[in-house]
Amino acid sequence: MLTHIVFDADETLLDLRSAVTGGLEAVLGRMRQLDPAAAEVTLGDLESDWDAVFDGMSAAPVAEIRRAALTRSVARAGLDEHLDAIADLFFERRYALTRPFPDVLPALATLRRHHTLGFATNGNSRAERCGLAGEFAFEVYAHEDGLPKKPAPEFFGAVVAAAGVAPDRIVHVGDSPAHDVVAARRAGHRAVWLNRAGLPRPADLPADAEIATVTELAAVVAELSAG
Ligand SMILES: [Mg+2]
Repeated sequence: MLTHIVFDADETLLDLRSAVTGGLEAVLGRMRQLDPAAAEVTLGDLESDWDAVFDGMSAAPVAEIRRAALTRSVARAGLDEHLDAIADLFFERRYALTRPFPDVLPALATLRRHHTLGFATNGNSRAERCGLAGEFAFEVYAHEDGLPKKPAPEFFGAVVAAAGVAPDRIVHVGDSPAHDVVAARRAGHRAVWLNRAGLPRPADLPADAEIATVTELAAVVAELSAG
């Protein structure tokens, strides 16, 4: 019997990619206001600054990774002294633009009738800042109280503690095969892979089910509960 449904945030419930793009466009606009020479800097450059720092910092808080990326970006136009203001601008736009995918709020309303819902993220998408205030019975954020990110077992231990039920009563739902399926299964949860983009399913992915929208989840969870 599955009693709890726990959701990943970014790219599962929240359309983060377009929000990040909007944040970076605002950064680029401000850089060009501050120095016309920044006209040569492109959105692709700013995106590559994230890629350049991510691998060396993947366990760090996302806000720190973003600041490191923006440090490289402002340096492209000699605007290092404006880093704090530009980082503030990025986060203001990123949060203002981060909203649930259209299928999310109706699906959560349906699922809540029979299940307790939780929110569990490695990122810095606070539910209340991203259009999801009051939607969840509990929220788990990596880096709060030193909690390591998924796929660490400790992260899922915190989810179990917050849920207050045995791991096998929980189904974890998310877009990351490694974090939301493999690691969740290893922690004793059921796992549903949300594949919004229609990507090829990774070989040997131990998902209990695969869905393309969260609208499909109620039927899938009913089936897993019965099985
Ligand atoms: Mg995700």
